Amino acid sequence: MGLFVVLLGGPGAGKGTQADLLGKALQLPHVSSGDLFRAALKADTELGREVKGYLARGELVPDALTIAMVAQRLDQADCQRGAVLDGFPRTIDQAEALDGVLAARGEQVTVVAFVNVGEDVLLARLSGRWTCRICQAVYHLLYKPPREAGKCDVCGGELYQRADDSPETHKRRIEVYLEQTAPLVQFYRERHLLVDIDGEARIEDVQARLLAVVQRAGRQQRLDRDKCRTCVD
Ligand code: AMP
Repeated sequence: MGLFVVLLGGPGAGKGTQADLLGKALQLPHVSSGDLFRAALKADTELGREVKGYLARGELVPDALTIAMVAQRLDQADCQRGAVLDGFPRTIDQAEALDGVLAARGEQVTVVAFVNVGEDVLLARLSGRWTCRICQAVYHLLYKPPREAGKCDVCGGELYQRADDSPETHKRRIEVYLEQTAPLVQFYRERHLLVDIDGEARIEDVQARLLAVVQRAGRQQRLDRDKCRTCVD
């Protein structure tokens, strides 16, 4: 059974940074719907052209397009053992679709980590954010500056500010999060899948807590599966 981890949280909560570290620690792919959309934009594919306006305005891309794109990504060979999902699901319909995609493979969401960060901190974090053009590593002028200004520590690539990194878009993205994504906290809490994580702690502390939470959930998933096998036998 695979390990499917969902990272939930507002824009700027640090999901990308944490998903990347967690993916490396667990040797699982980091599946970011935002990165997939940006790659489509960059490659100027049909999908890229379709989603460009939504990204620029900080609005959500329609569910049908998003779900099809992520389902296709999860179908790839490297996601057979699981994945760390970052930025998906973002609506209740997406969450239900994810359940369906996983159930069709005899899988389920293992755990949902809610990386909780206050709105004012989200806004402050969004405004200092720089991204590597090559490897998509994320930096922050205050919280995580690169060793050399404008240059990625990981691959030496050029750092840039995303097109959706303008003050109006930041505010809109937070509003959209509160309206459309925050209800997922309750959705997953009711399913006993949610674990709260203080996303305002230091990056390393968030990572340590996240890793412990996911490892515990993975153990529980294996125990439940074995128990289930015993009842069937
Ligand atoms: P992110 O990199 O996760 O902050 O996403 C950047 C932008 O991509 C968002 O503001 C949306 O326009 C779009 N996007 C990413 N993930 C989703 C999703 N699950 N549903 C709809 N739109 C998304």
